[in-house]
Amino acid sequence: MKIYIEPNRKKWQDILRRPSQSYDEIEPTVLEIFSEIKQKGDQALLRYTQLFDGVRPKELRVTEDELAEASSNIEPELKQAMQVALENIQAFHQAQKSDPVLMETSPGVSCWQEKRPIEQVGLYIPGGTAPLFSTVLMLAIPARIAGCDRVIICSPPDKEGKIHPAVLYAAKLCGVQEVYKVGGIQAIGAMTFGTESIGAVDKIFGPGNQFVTVAKQVATRFKVAIDMPAGPSELLVYADSTGVPDFIASDLLSQAEHGPDSQVILVCDSEELAKASQDAVCQQLNDLPRKSIAQKAIDNSRIVVLQDKLQALEMINTYGPEHFILVSEEEEFFLQGLKSAGSVFLGNYSPESVGDYASGTNHTLPTNGYARQYSGVNLDSFCKSITFQKLTAEGISSLGPYVETMAQAEGLWGHSKAVSLRLESLKRKSV
Ligand code: NAD
Repeated sequence: MKIYIEPNRKKWQDILRRPSQSYDEIEPTVLEIFSEIKQKGDQALLRYTQLFDGVRPKELRVTEDELAEASSNIEPELKQAMQVALENIQAFHQAQKSDPVLMETSPGVSCWQEKRPIEQVGLYIPGGTAPLFSTVLMLAIPARIAGCDRVIICSPPDKEGKIHPAVLYAAKLCGVQEVYKVGGIQAIGAMTFGTESIGAVDKIFGPGNQFVTVAKQVATRFKVAIDMPAGPSELLVYADSTGVPDFIASDLLSQAEHGPDSQVILVCDSEELAKASQDAVCQQLNDLPRKSIAQKAIDNSRIVVLQDKLQALEMINTYGPEHFILVSEEEEFFLQGLKSAGSVFLGNYSPESVGDYASGTNHTLPTNGYARQYSGVNLDSFCKSITFQKLTAEGISSLGPYVETMAQAEGLWGHSKAVSLRLESLKRKSV
């Protein structure tokens, strides 16, 4: 990890540049695959699964037997860990339920807002380099709490044409019955357009690599919604002298091991801490089974020394990290000034991995600077808000003339007449 000491502001953009390929580079591939899926359905899904995952599954849908068998392949310790995670995720997302908003904006004019679940949702579970069964919990639990009617999962098959048993076990635990062996761009295309085997959905959720992320963004042109662009993982750690180099290094590596296109950044207030953390990263990297992946991500990663805390805060907000770890005596200063981040971890005892698995917060979060305009997945992501209004005779009599004035000023006489007719009718009744 290269160390930059007090870099000039003009260099920040270069230092903070993300390593993933750009949208424009991937978009043509996505459009080509989408077009083939629209024309050839399942046949196209199988062709691209063969091409990218090196396997042609016999059936796209996971059978009931496969779902049932998964349980026998999972160790009791893992089942117990998943249960604990499930309970925390469930509790935190259940607590996000909110009461309808109801009020009388003026006499006789009642307005209210209520939430309704999105009927059909598709959950993308990454599986290219690691079977992210934790993502099943993160997406299927809030979908169930929200009350979505149909919840489906798509995940890439392994070389034997199977989905990892932990993904299937987690799906069963969360009550998801429809699971498909398809990943990447082709999975997003299937959920967008529908094929013979996979019915289209209303909204697609889930993280993924750069291909999945761009495919989700392109899919929004075709009448499907997405949670957000949740691409290659990122982490920014800010630490002052209270930071522990070994802890910092372990956090940086925990995100670096996600994929070669992941990125981690350390911003700290001293050269000493920067060097100690750099050394600890080198040491710990050697012990990681996914060393080759993490090494590539580390090559894209940076350490920045900024003594001035205001400048450090500005850099954090400029980057808008997916994950932000803050270890500082000045916690309050940074929290007050924080504008954009997906999820925040405070102090030496809050490693980012706890949010990935089990603290209860959601791990599907905006990357690539999208924390500036998107929130991470939460209960509301699975709902729509519908607004209602009901006016009494008194309500239309007092509000109606203002609506007439505004509609006429916009030249929309039809709007105005819809009010005038009612006001005239009320006048006739009162005579
Ligand atoms: P993945 O399931 O996202 O992608 C695998 C699929 O990519 C394959 O099935 C294949 O179809 C497709 N693919 C691979 N190479 C391709 C190519 N050259 N052209 C077209 N398609 C291609 O699994 P992954 O690759 O392991 O990536 C998981 C990603 O999810 C990582 O980047 C990780 O950082 C990210 N992640 C993000 C979050 C978040 O909330 N933002 C959370 C967890 C994981």
